[in-house]
Amino acid sequence: MLAVIPVRDGILPAGGAEAACECYGRAVLIGSGTVAAAASIAGELRCIEAGAFSPGAWAHALDPILTAEPIVVLPSSADGRDLAPRLAAVLDRPLFAGAIKVTEREVVVARDGGLTMHTVVAPERFVATLQVGVRGVDPVTSEATAATSVELLTSETMPTQDAAGADAGVVEVLGPDVASIDLAEATRIVAGGAGLDGSGRFDQLAKLGELLGASVGATRVITDRGWIGHERQIGTTGVVVDPRLYLAFGISGAVQHTSGLGDPEHIISINLDAHCPMMQLADLAVVADANELLDELIDLLATPAITRITMVDTDG
Ligand SMILES: Cc1cc2nc3c(=O)[nH]c(=O)nc-3n(C[C@H](O)[C@H](O)[C@H](O)COP(=O)(O)OP(=O)(O)OC[C@H]3O[C@@H](n4cnc5c(N)ncnc54)[C@H](O)[C@@H]3O)c2cc1C
Repeated sequence: MLAVIPVRDGILPAGGAEAACECYGRAVLIGSGTVAAAASIAGELRCIEAGAFSPGAWAHALDPILTAEPIVVLPSSADGRDLAPRLAAVLDRPLFAGAIKVTEREVVVARDGGLTMHTVVAPERFVATLQVGVRGVDPVTSEATAATSVELLTSETMPTQDAAGADAGVVEVLGPDVASIDLAEATRIVAGGAGLDGSGRFDQLAKLGELLGASVGATRVITDRGWIGHERQIGTTGVVVDPRLYLAFGISGAVQHTSGLGDPEHIISINLDAHCPMMQLADLAVVADANELLDELIDLLATPAITRITMVDTDG
């Protein structure tokens, strides 16, 4: 099994490390800044510097590398979803999109908006995309890192244009709209729980999210009240997320919520109860009224000088 991970500007896409883990650490990273992106994965990695994202051209270029690999797994990131069908077509194999588990024997795919799981007996050769956030990442031990080998392949043989003309010309790359981005792909999340005193607080959270470049999430108590849509619910019966920064406003940290949180690098919790589980998990635990703090934060961040400092300083 081999993972193929499309990389842009040295940033590993959402689900990239998971796809590599699903393939026992064997991965090809293709794109720009692949060696930098490889630093966060342990395993047997091949890096192909191939410039800007060109799924049609890349599929043809990868064909000889992948021919001997019966199972190819891509992350269900935006670029992974674009590249996977082209690879499947070039390699002449079936594609299992939206898998939650891939093995040599079977593939489990989520269907009906994640309500049903279908187990398919794996054919000999296939391509699959692995959903983001469902698998998690194996802990990177020092032994695993020491054993990591990174091989950089030359880009000279990489076609920059697809001979079949299947690649669209890029006019401009627009940043994601944090308000509507899929929560599973958000690197920063501001979330609210029952400590917030009204549905209007979620308009404030959306405003805060805009100022911080973060998406908005919530607990089940909130989605059950209808204060925000169910697609924004984080947890076992909601979305599984994996942000780098998580801000929790008035959230107790019940296990059904935190089990969907992934492994954020930074957790900030604002709660009146210093001893609740969310405060215990937090890197920064603020004992305060979450509603008042929300008002204050928005006032502060709306001040241009503060916003400027924050945008430089919050790469988490
Ligand atoms: C089968 C099952 C599945 C579930 N799935 C999910 C799921 O997917 N996701 C999920 O989130 N939950 C899920 N739940 C519910 C879960 O068990 C919790 O009930 C829920 O997560 C609690 O949400 P909460 O933290 O918003 O509310 P609470 O647990 O009521 O916590 C509110 C917190 O706000 C604090 N607070 C109160 N006032 C203030 C204030 N003014 N300022 C600051 N803090 C304040 C309190 O100290 C408390 O810590 C599930 C439950 C079951 C049984």
